[in-house]
Amino acid sequence: MGLWRQLRWRIIAAQMLVVLVGVVTLIVTADIVAARTVDPALLPVFEEAVLQALIVAALASALVGLGASLLLVREILRPLRQLAVSSRRIASGHYDERVTVPLSDELRDVAQSFNQMAEALAQVEQQRVTLIGNVAHELRTPLAGLEGYLEGLLDGVLPGDPETISAMQHEVRRLRRLVDDLQHLSRVEAGQMPLQSQVFDLVALVQRIVAQLRPQLIEQCLEIAVEAPDRAVLAYADPDRTAQVLVNLVGNAIRYTPEDGCITLRVRSEVEHVQVAVEDTGIGIPAEALPYLFERFYRVDPSRSRASGGSGIGLTIARHLARAMGGEITATSPGIGQGSVFTLTLPRGDNERGKRHSS
Ligand code: ADP
Repeated sequence: MGLWRQLRWRIIAAQMLVVLVGVVTLIVTADIVAARTVDPALLPVFEEAVLQALIVAALASALVGLGASLLLVREILRPLRQLAVSSRRIASGHYDERVTVPLSDELRDVAQSFNQMAEALAQVEQQRVTLIGNVAHELRTPLAGLEGYLEGLLDGVLPGDPETISAMQHEVRRLRRLVDDLQHLSRVEAGQMPLQSQVFDLVALVQRIVAQLRPQLIEQCLEIAVEAPDRAVLAYADPDRTAQVLVNLVGNAIRYTPEDGCITLRVRSEVEHVQVAVEDTGIGIPAEALPYLFERFYRVDPSRSRASGGSGIGLTIARHLARAMGGEITATSPGIGQGSVFTLTLPRGDNERGKRHSS
């Protein structure tokens, strides 16, 4: 029973079965044909000749069948064994393990898929290691600040006045923001952010956000303009999450635009979707940085962004949210000092209504 479970013996048994069926068929057919066509006097000679031929043929085909099965078994089993060994090595943390690609089409597909899976696992592992490194690095800055203030206070170098306490509070807030952002990011990446998508007017939402942020804009001497059609522009998404994304984009525009700059929010309705473009006249983004903007902890100018309290994961969260709602965020910039445009795209609300009516 144990042998029968091995592929090797099953293939050999299949070959032997073919030989056996061939021999039996030949004997029966030869018997029937001989009884009808061969002269009864010659029958024993004929039978003797057929028997000898059969023995030789049976032995030869059994031998060739056995050889062919062993070759086939080796070709199938060797890559399978290698796959098993490599999977165990990957499971024990050797993510650089790869299998050699065999010649046959089917096994080549399996080996290539295995190698792709190994590559993906290696990337995930690399991202995990980078993430831990980044988190440690991000935590170190505010912690070092707090430690410095505490040491200063203990040594009597710093006075325990409201100014020092407020500076310490600033570091604690930075820590809290980072921890909140990280928690938010892990939920968004795990797809655990509940979305309540509905049809809403994007123009009204944009205007509400602008009214909310106006005091901050006045403080920074920035102008803000909304360019939108006179009618409602219907989007199908979660309005609270859309507001969160837009507050993040406008917040960035405020942070990276010097005084007297201007921020414009353009609401557009396209054939398939609706869009809000957040355009600023700020510091701009170099072309080589554009592909990395939405990666975790990426900052074009780390010292500048970190000083302003940015965690470098705002855009990562924003893009995840946009995609979860069936939309997208893209960034463009003509270059350093020439401003940037971040465009949020969402599904059209009226299409969605139409779809739901027809379904
Ligand atoms: P942060 O919290 O550092 O702002 P984000 O994920 O929101 O992190 O943004 C990532 C980086 O993208 C920023 O550090 C900044 O370098 C760049 N960036 C984002 N928005 C703008 C903008 N409007 N103008 C110029 N650079 C920007």
